[in-house]
Amino acid sequence: MMMPMLDPDVVPPAAPARPVPGRPLEIEALVREHVCVNDEYRYLSLDLPDGVPHARPGQFYHLLCPGGDGLEPFFRRPMSVYRVEPERNRVGFLYKVTGTGTAAMARLWPGDGFNIFGPLGIGFTLPADTAPIVLLGRGVGLATMGPLVPFARENGHRVTAVLSARAPELLMSVEEMRIAGADVLTVTDSEGTSAVPHVEGLLEDLVAQGRCGALYVCGSSRLTRLAQSVAARHGLFGEVALEQQMACGVGVCFCCVRPFRENGETVHRRVCCEGPVFPLAEALA
Ligand SMILES: Cc1cc2nc3c(=O)[nH]c(=O)nc-3n(C[C@H](O)[C@H](O)[C@H](O)COP(=O)(O)OP(=O)(O)OC[C@H]3O[C@@H](n4cnc5c(N)ncnc54)[C@H](O)[C@@H]3O)c2cc1C
Repeated sequence: MMMPMLDPDVVPPAAPARPVPGRPLEIEALVREHVCVNDEYRYLSLDLPDGVPHARPGQFYHLLCPGGDGLEPFFRRPMSVYRVEPERNRVGFLYKVTGTGTAAMARLWPGDGFNIFGPLGIGFTLPADTAPIVLLGRGVGLATMGPLVPFARENGHRVTAVLSARAPELLMSVEEMRIAGADVLTVTDSEGTSAVPHVEGLLEDLVAQGRCGALYVCGSSRLTRLAQSVAARHGLFGEVALEQQMACGVGVCFCCVRPFRENGETVHRRVCCEGPVFPLAEALA
């Protein structure tokens, strides 16, 4: 595992206080919209009952995917919020069908009931000042990063999103992020622009232009290591949203424990309740 090079002269900024999660609820939601976004991802929007707490960007719900027709998902499935609309009492998820639970979810129709539990976990923290921020996402990270754009713009941060995918047709959220006020740069494997040295060049340019005061990353170990090394080199605040198989989702079963680095020591943390968003420098990617 490559450790990012630390420059002893670069002092990282004091980390802002992390948000304290509210009390999660079991919620009977109603499917409002369910559509294919591309060959791999679907968008599911839910109407929530009045008065339920709304998620922060980076938080997730634990979804009770419906059984039947040979699909009997036992555990709930964790899913980050992609769109949070408190004023309309709605929440949206962008997801890929990968196994039993998500295949069962894919059979939901508008009007169906859907039991969700949350919001869960600790979401993203913005820098204390109005520093410009850079988002780096690939795969499922494009979904997790979605709500960070309007949240950061509403709080006065310039946002640049660097979105990575295997091919241009698999890039998601580009228009949504632009409409929400982000400058969007895209890189793909098929165009030969997604390799680490090229993305590193983009990030260094953004730092040199004063557009990168903090870095947020999700969806790729190699992009996480790259973000760690750029953040360490320039003393930037940063966070990473992690994915891990989960069972209970509330910190009881210790199924989602991962190793982290803290003050030079390896420590173990539960992704469900001590994350899924963690300080960038502490993740062992
Ligand atoms: C915080 C978080 C946010 C996420 N956000 C998104 C998102 O926005 N979009 C998206 O597409 N995906 C997201 N994912 C990934 C998503 O949760 C998985 O793709 C989904 O759980 C797969 O479920 P499945 O049944 O289809 O696949 P399977 O591979 O059939 O099942 C995986 C699930 O089985 C259970 N499981 C399997 N083995 C074990 C075990 N040994 N111990 C305990 N439990 C086990 C767990 O519930 C696990 O999640 C997120 C994951 C996390 C942790």
